[in-house]
Amino acid sequence: MKKIIVLLCVVFFTALFSGGINAERIFFANGDGTRKEIALTFDDGPGLNTKAVLEILKDKEVKATFFLLGESIEKMPHLVKEIYDDGHEIGNHTYNHINFYESEIKSEKDFEDLKEAMSDEIIKTQELIETITDYRTRLVRFPYGYMRPAAIKAARENGYRVINWSFGTDWKPGWSWRDLLNQYYKNAKPGAVFLMHDLSKSTRLIKMLPELIEKLKTKGYDFVTVSELLNFVEKKEKEPRQEYKQEEVKTEPVAEPETQSEIKAEIETVPEAESETESDTELNPEAGIIHELKLASQNETAPESETEPQTTQLYAY
Ligand SMILES: [Zn+2]
Repeated sequence: MKKIIVLLCVVFFTALFSGGINAERIFFANGDGTRKEIALTFDDGPGLNTKAVLEILKDKEVKATFFLLGESIEKMPHLVKEIYDDGHEIGNHTYNHINFYESEIKSEKDFEDLKEAMSDEIIKTQELIETITDYRTRLVRFPYGYMRPAAIKAARENGYRVINWSFGTDWKPGWSWRDLLNQYYKNAKPGAVFLMHDLSKSTRLIKMLPELIEKLKTKGYDFVTVSELLNFVEKKEKEPRQEYKQEEVKTEPVAEPETQSEIKAEIETVPEAESETESDTELNPEAGIIHELKLASQNETAPESETEPQTTQLYAY
């Protein structure tokens, strides 16, 4: 056990500092909060909800980031082109949506094999995206927010940054669109990265999304891509970006409780396989790496709880 912990730490530090002590951070779950900006992200697509999501984003003049899954791209390649042509950012969500938390790492070879498997997953999807759009993304989000040392290393070796999220809950069964609206609204903060899904048809997401965008715009939020939020690129904009000054961010509910019939209708459209877990990141973006070390030293085998969707209130931010 001790040996494995030491091994993981050594490998991780090697990966982290391979470019020198000031090696660039490659794991992110939110922006630094200096501007009142939010990045909307959509995972697992393109899929049955992509078209409707694109229409809303176009209507509201909002740019988002789509973390595309290789096997979904194969089924609906034309939608990848549409996402790209609409000016949204594209990220890599691997090819097969493998749950890497189930991989056991008991030796250095296990670690290398896992890293190689993750690398293959990235490259396969990268090639698909490039074939369709000629665009090479540098953002990867591993399924279920996996971000242990093998993921960080696989990403780094392929020139990627690992992007998780600060809040997401659209897969939760039994919640109405108004429940979702309230949850996302409540968890809006400068620098937030919201996770949503566009693979399966979900009328509740489609009902909630325009309302959420409007409510947050009213609160003074601007919507940006992940790369803009994290300052990897300059935002394409007409007006200068405003520094965010501490101010009151009210979290009052924005919608009335749902009626029973509406709830039933929504439940029927809940996607089945949307089991993305909450990102297990710290609130402070700077703590991401530290948290990773904690994970490495605590869990050399996949913990069950991290592969299950949260059933209680997800943390804010
Ligand atoms: Zn996913």
